[in-house]
Amino acid sequence: MSDPLPTTPIDVLDEVFGYDSFRGRQAEIIEQISAGGDALVLMPTGAGKSLCYQLPAILRQRAGKGLAVVVSPLIALMRDQVLALHELGVEAAFLNSALSSEEFEHTRRRMLSGELTLLYAAPERVTNANFLADLAMLDDAGKLSMFAIDEAHCVSQWGHDFRPEYQALTILHERFPAVPRIALTATADALTRREIASQLDLDDAPLYVSSFDRPNIRYLIDEKRDARKQLLRFITQSHAGEAGIVYCLSRRKVEETAKFLNDQAITALPYHAGLDSAVRQRHQDRFLREDGIVMTATIAFGMGIDKPDVRFVAHLDMPKNIEGYYQETGRAGRDGDPAEAWMAYGLQDVVMQRNLLENGDANEQHKQVLRGKLDALLGLCESTDCRRQRLLAYFGEDSEPCGNCDNCISPPEMWDAGEQARMLLSCIYRCEQNFGSGHIFDVLRGKETDKVARFNHWNLSTFGIGAEFSDQQWRAVLRQLIARGMVRVDSDHFNVLRLSGEWRDFVKSSDPLELRVAVKRAAPAAKRAARVPDDEPELSPDDERLLEELRVWRKRLADEKSLPAYMVFDNKTLRAIARTRPSTSDELADVRGVGAAKLESYGAAVLELVADDVETVAG
Ligand code: ADP
Ligand code: ZN
Repeated sequence: MSDPLPTTPIDVLDEVFGYDSFRGRQAEIIEQISAGGDALVLMPTGAGKSLCYQLPAILRQRAGKGLAVVVSPLIALMRDQVLALHELGVEAAFLNSALSSEEFEHTRRRMLSGELTLLYAAPERVTNANFLADLAMLDDAGKLSMFAIDEAHCVSQWGHDFRPEYQALTILHERFPAVPRIALTATADALTRREIASQLDLDDAPLYVSSFDRPNIRYLIDEKRDARKQLLRFITQSHAGEAGIVYCLSRRKVEETAKFLNDQAITALPYHAGLDSAVRQRHQDRFLREDGIVMTATIAFGMGIDKPDVRFVAHLDMPKNIEGYYQETGRAGRDGDPAEAWMAYGLQDVVMQRNLLENGDANEQHKQVLRGKLDALLGLCESTDCRRQRLLAYFGEDSEPCGNCDNCISPPEMWDAGEQARMLLSCIYRCEQNFGSGHIFDVLRGKETDKVARFNHWNLSTFGIGAEFSDQQWRAVLRQLIARGMVRVDSDHFNVLRLSGEWRDFVKSSDPLELRVAVKRAAPAAKRAARVPDDEPELSPDDERLLEELRVWRKRLADEKSLPAYMVFDNKTLRAIARTRPSTSDELADVRGVGAAKLESYGAAVLELVADDVETVAG
C-alpha cells in the first residue's frame, strides 16, 4: 500500500470500522485520549464504549506510540473483542489463564516486537511483576501508548461485580504516570462512580456521562396469569426464531422453563450456578454463536454477554430492584435494532421479594434501603404512566413520555378501587390479621369453605360484601395495598396478611385507589416490534429476499470460520446492502459497517450475491 494510513479519528472510523459518524460523546472522548489525556466514561450498554479506546489505540499506534493495554475481567469478553478486531484487520491479542505456555510466549513476543495494536489482559496478569517489567521496557522505549480499563465498576466494593484484583490496578498509574488511562463502565450510581475515580486515580480526569436511555428497547410489564403461556405467546408472536434471555429466580424454574420451551419447539438452554461449569460454558458458547437460541437463566448469566442481537429479555419473576431490572433488560438490543423487555409480574412476586428481603441477614438499616429499592420497582410495575420516564427518573434523568412502552402505546384504563381496598383492609382486620390472602378473598366473595365454617367467618360483616369481584381483581387490589405498604405479608407466620402503615387513615377516608383495568392484552400481534429501527426505511419484498440470501451466506461463512454471524456483518449492515444493492466495490465501501478489511475479505462474494439477485429480478 502506498497511500499513507489515515490519521484523523473520522478517517479511521470510516476506513477501519466503516462508520460515517460518531455517536453521542465518542468524538470528544477519542479526542481527549488521542491527545494523551485521561477519561472516565459512563455509557449504557450498546452505546459504543469499545470504540472509545479502540480507535485512539489505532491512532496512537499509527503515530508510533506503540501498544494499548486493555484490562478486561472476563475471558469470553476478551476473546470476542479480539476476534472482532481481527475481522476489522486490527492486530490484537489477549493474555489470560486459558492460554498454554507456548501461546503465552508467542503473544508476549508479538507484544514486545511492536506488532500489536491492542493487548487484552486480565487484571491479575497486568499486575504481575514479570508483566509489569515487560511494560516498563516498552514504556522506556516510548512504546506503551495507553491503558483502557473496561468494566471499571469491578473496582467498587459496593458494585455488583466486585473483583479484588481490580483494586491492585492502582499500580498502573504509580508505575506509568505519563501513560493515558481511560476507564469505562455501564454502571451509573454515584457511589460506584466516586470509587472508580479514587481507586484508579482519575479524580482529575474529565467525566463523560451519556444518557442512560435505551430508546430501541420497548418496555412491557404484564400482569401474571399463566406466566408460561404468556411467555410462549410473547415469543411465538413477536420473537419467533430470535435470540433472547428468559430470567427466572430459581434454578428449578430455569430448568422447567427450558424444558417447557423445548417441548414447544423453541430451542432453549438452561444456565444457572448449579450446572457443571463445562455445561455452562457450552450453553453460553452456543447462545453466542448460534442464531435464535433462547437462554433461560438465573441472574448468574449476564456480565460479559455482549451479543449484540439479543432481541428480547423476559422476566418470569420480578427482580429485586430497578438496578437489576435495568441491567438485565439492557442486554437486549445492543445493536440498536428494536428489542423488547417483557416482564410478567403478580402478587406472588411481591410476596416473594418481600420475604426474601425481610428474612435476609441484612441489618435493619440496610433493610430499610432495600425496602426503598423494592418499593421503587413495585411502583414501576404498578405504574400507569410511561415506564421509561420512571426508569430514567430513578437514575436522575428527566424525560418525556416515550411512545415506546406498553403504557404509552395503549394507555391503561383505570378504575377506582378505593371502596374495594377499604373492604379488603376491613376484612383483614375482622379476621384478626391471622389469615392468608386465599382465605381473605373467600370471605370477601362469600364462599362457604370448610375454613370459613370452622372459624365462623360467615358471621363477619365483611362476609360476601365483595362477591361481584373476581379473585384476579382482589389480587390486583391487594398488590397495590402491599406496594403502598398498607398490608404486609408475614412470612414468619404462614404468609398471613397484616395491616401496617397508613391503613387506618385510608379506611376512614374516601380516598381513591387508582388501578388499571386488567385486560388480556393482545398487544404483541398488533403492536409487533418493527423489524427495522424508526430511522431506517422499510425493506421492499425484493430487498427482503436478498436480505435472506445474505443471511444464509453469512451463516455459512460464520460457521466455516467459527465466528458469531454478527462479526462478519451485523444486521444493520446486511439490511443496508439489501436496500442499496451496491454494484461496485466503491459503492459497497460506502455502506455503513463495511471497512477496508471486510471489503477485502468479503467484498467480491457480496457483490456477486447482489448481482445475481438483480438478474433474478430483471429476468
Ligand atoms: P458497549 O461496549 O458500550 O456495550 P459496543 O462497543 O459493543 O457497546 O458497541 C455497540 C455496537 O455499536 C457495536 O456493534 C458497535 O460496532 C456499534 N457502534 C459503535 N460506535 C458506532 C458508531 N459511531 N457508528 C455506528 N455504529 C457504532
Ligand atoms: Zn413510555
